Amino acid sequence: MAIEWVDTHCHLNDSQRFPDPDRAIAEAADAGVTRLMVVGIDLHWSRKAVELADRHEGVFAVVGHHPTSKGFRDEHLKVYEEWFKHPKVVALGEIGLDYHWDMTTPEEQDGWLRAQLELAKSLGAPVIFHCREAYDALIARLDGYAHGPLDFHCFAGSFTQAEALGLHHYFGVDGPLTYPKAGDLREIIALLPKERILLETDAPWLPPVPYRGKLNHPAYLPLIGEALAQIWGVSVEEVARQTSANAEACFPKLAGVGGG
Ligand SMILES: [Zn+2]
Repeated sequence: MAIEWVDTHCHLNDSQRFPDPDRAIAEAADAGVTRLMVVGIDLHWSRKAVELADRHEGVFAVVGHHPTSKGFRDEHLKVYEEWFKHPKVVALGEIGLDYHWDMTTPEEQDGWLRAQLELAKSLGAPVIFHCREAYDALIARLDGYAHGPLDFHCFAGSFTQAEALGLHHYFGVDGPLTYPKAGDLREIIALLPKERILLETDAPWLPPVPYRGKLNHPAYLPLIGEALAQIWGVSVEEVARQTSANAEACFPKLAGVGGG
């Protein structure tokens, strides 16, 4: 049986960088990446994610408002709630905290995060978090949030922070796993439970070796899988099987709706 992968995080809804998403989806399928999750960062990008999911069997959508996107309004929650009824809208995201950039204030970000977490709780929706230079604040915000499953996309915290977030949650691994200088990241990922690791490209960002400096594509996901196979000391097939099972466990709507 051919190897099949799930890219749990990409932005093919970025029409500026992906003017022809259909082609990127076809190339991904040729590389064995038969299921893709296209993630929103605001109302506009979330709508485009849902449209792509409608048009392509292997595409699923994630809807929500990113901490550095301006223009969140409470009325948007109703729209995200409506979209989540769609069988191929698998999670709310990407939401969270980002203290690296200053387009939005920490107070704004926290308000949006709380509102969207309340919505996720009421819907029983999985959540995809974006977190940059703000893990301790996110840990504090999630204290007592017992709903789930939660995916910490592009995880860049310490192992202690992963433990504080909860090792029963999920951790997204991207292109940096292949970077020569990412020894610390590889050590942390090696310590996390295998059944909690999700593979993602975050395309067009974070291209793996040997595509650094270029546009990232979902078709490059197997390169990250190969790096993970080395860390785990297992075959690439086993990595594809385990991480696909992990994705279905974290995002139940992925299961049963076709791949390629
Ligand atoms: Zn993203």
